[in-house]
This record gives sequence, structure tokens and C-alpha cells, in this order.
Amino acid sequence: MTRLILATRNAGKITELKAILVAAGLPYYLAGAEEFPDVPDVKETGVTFAENALLKARALATATGWPAVADDSGLCVDVLGGAPGIFSARWSGTHGDDTANLNLLLAQLADIAPPHRTAHFACAAALALPDGTEHVVEGRLDGTLRPTPAGTGGFGYDPILQPDGETRTCAELTADEKNAISHRGKAFRALVPVLRETLY
Ligand code: IMP
Repeated sequence: MTRLILATRNAGKITELKAILVAAGLPYYLAGAEEFPDVPDVKETGVTFAENALLKARALATATGWPAVADDSGLCVDVLGGAPGIFSARWSGTHGDDTANLNLLLAQLADIAPPHRTAHFACAAALALPDGTEHVVEGRLDGTLRPTPAGTGGFGYDPILQPDGETRTCAELTADEKNAISHRGKAFRALVPVLRETLY
């Protein structure tokens, strides 16, 4: 059985990657980072999603001796030159304060008219092997930013991003609907051929 570790403590991400591996017919044993509590979290010192995903995957593969997958993602707003980008989780200054991050972004965009409120979620997914082999793939979800939040699902900036071709925000989609079109879903699915070639 192929062993794989995903560099996250987020149960939702583990479930999402498991479902993708099952759908692809890849047998696996997938562990989350909590199965290796002694491995410290890596500092995200990269300046791109790809660099940060690779840093996390590489550190975990080295520490565990297992093939490791890591993802890094965020919201990129065109009128802000791609910000918050890699700073998405700490845009308001406090890491992980989703409400403060979203409210600050809405205030910054208050005077920007709808045609200029384009943005995308971006995700890089990295695979690192203990022998130093590395791969990175990316996915994105394009949309526009609503002036007020809508919906109670999801997390982060989901209540303000309305995907292109949708009338609802990401926070109004079901988890399956969002996974089918999301940046992370696309990046994880793009990893399948890489995993198939590298590990099987
Ligand atoms: P992470 O790399 O998955 O931890 O995401 C970093 C930050 O980007 C999160 O804290 C959110 O602010 C934002 N983000 C990433 N993916 C999503 C998403 O699917 N919906 C909403 N916000 C997201």
C-alpha cells in the first residue's frame, strides 16, 4: 500500500484529497500531519504559493521518510496587484482571523465598481519524496468580489467570491459543488497523474 502524508491538520483537506485518490483508483494510506506530532510546522518564508507548498512538503518528507503532499493557497485581487496573495491568512495582521481579513479587504475595495472587482483563488500543490524528487502543480478559481458577504458555508473569503458563471458565492455552494470547481480541487486533481507516475 502506498503511503502518503498531507501537510495539514485540516480534516476537510484530508477528506478532499482522499476522495480524489479514490476516484482516480489509486490505493493509498493517507495520513495527516497530526500523525507526526513531533514534526514542527515549517515557516512559510517563500514569496509564491508554489515555494511555500514545496517548503512544507519537503520538510515533512525529510522528517518522516514518507512521500509528502502540501498545498498553499490564497485570494488574489486584480485591482490590488494580486494581494492579499500569500498574505491571505494574515491580511488584517492576525493570522487566521477570517472575519477581520474579509472585512479589511471589503473596506479597501469599497469604492471599486463591479467590473473592476475581479479576483481568483489560487492553489499550489506540491509533492516531495524523501529522495529529493519534487513536483508542483497549480489550480485557480476565477470570479468577482461581492460588496457584502453572503452564505454560511466554507471559510476565509468564500462569502465574497462569486465564481464566474455562478449566481452564488462560494459560501452558498455545497462542499461538493465547491470542490468540483475550486482552486484546491483542481490542483489536487492535477497531482493525480504526477502521483501515478511517481509512486505507482
Ligand atoms: P491555506 O493555504 O489553505 O491555509 O489558505 C490560506 C488563506 O487563504 C486562508 O486562510 C484563506 O484566507 C484563504 N483561502 C484559501 N483557500 C480559500 C478558499 O477556498 N476559500 C476562502 N478562502 C481561502
